[in-house]
Amino acid sequence: MSRPPTRDGEFRPSWLCPSADDLRRLHEAFARADNARTVAALATTIGMLACAPWIGWVPFFIGVACCVQVATVGSRALRAVRPEVVHAASFAATTGVLVGGVAASGGARSPVLPLCTLPMLLLASRFRPRVAVFGLACGMLLVAAATVTVDRDGVVAAPETLVVTLLLMAASLAITMSFTRVELRLRDRTRRDPLTGLLNRLGLDILFDQTMTAARAADEPVSLIVMDLDHFKRVNDTHGHDQGDRVLAATADVLLDNLRAVDLVFRLGGEEFAVLLPGVGPAPAAMVAERLRGALEATPVDGHHVTLSAGIVTSTTHTEGWRGLYRRADAALLAAKRGGRNRCTSFGDITLPMGRHERAAA
Ligand code: GH3
Ligand code: MG
Ligand code: MG
Repeated sequence: MSRPPTRDGEFRPSWLCPSADDLRRLHEAFARADNARTVAALATTIGMLACAPWIGWVPFFIGVACCVQVATVGSRALRAVRPEVVHAASFAATTGVLVGGVAASGGARSPVLPLCTLPMLLLASRFRPRVAVFGLACGMLLVAAATVTVDRDGVVAAPETLVVTLLLMAASLAITMSFTRVELRLRDRTRRDPLTGLLNRLGLDILFDQTMTAARAADEPVSLIVMDLDHFKRVNDTHGHDQGDRVLAATADVLLDNLRAVDLVFRLGGEEFAVLLPGVGPAPAAMVAERLRGALEATPVDGHHVTLSAGIVTSTTHTEGWRGLYRRADAALLAAKRGGRNRCTSFGDITLPMGRHERAAA
């Protein structure tokens, strides 16, 4: 089922994820750490099983609970209306299970205590610093409360393990936060086109797969609009390359101003742009393309009018990769150019030239 596109979009900002970029980063960081998470959870559980004769069975069952949590959070988040809440709840649950394990296995002397640093290592890569620091504060409070509640005198007599654990939790978060900051800066530079600020081909390769995976899980269509400015060479030839550059930057602004926060806008190269519309079917996608075309036509840049032609295609099966979808959108774009430019054409409305096999069959 496709929903009509709206200006404000379906992304609802929250304290956990204030922008659609935050949500994309969350999904990406989660997917990237998939193997590491599994290895950490399994290794911890096996280690606790091996140590059970000396430290008891509680740490082992804590490890099993964490494995279940790690194994199911991805699918739960994919189906959720608010995936960021599922991820935050997963952190809270893992920390809660670990703290429960600390309380059940000796408090400040518990072998589970150092494991409370593990969730902190992942927190900074998923959320903004303010959320990560809040998570750290809650985690530290819970750990301190669990140990003091179980054995107050023991903590007073030998507080070193608790203090080192709290320091490790804070240090782990601080280190991963600094790595994450550098990574985000580099990531933004490599994925964005410096002239327009739009996502580039590298950004497309990464975000296309993510968008398709999410659409498949939600059983929603994804539409692609490929756009090309009309007679753009004339702008360069008549007004110079700098003016051409300003037109390209202004075009990007017009596109962004007329799309939802969840839509993805790319500069494919030269004067060609693409828009990926998650959850949007064929008819609303044609409306979006027409809105973009009309907005650009009505917006002069330095008194100069430019127009665009667009090809639209929708994927409902999600089996197609970028190349296949782009090929169909490009065929529709070519039809729009041939039809006179400054127009939008849907792939479903064009008649393709017959291939060798069809000609033989006819
Ligand atoms: P059509 O309507 O058929 O698309 O005609 P067109 O003139 O837009 O297409 P053509 O492919 O002949 O020209 C594209 C032009 O885009 C040629 C190139 O100089 C210009 N171009 C590509 N990249 C840039 C850029 O980064 N800055 C500027 N100013 N021009 C660019
Ligand atoms: Mg062109
Ligand atoms: Mg072109």
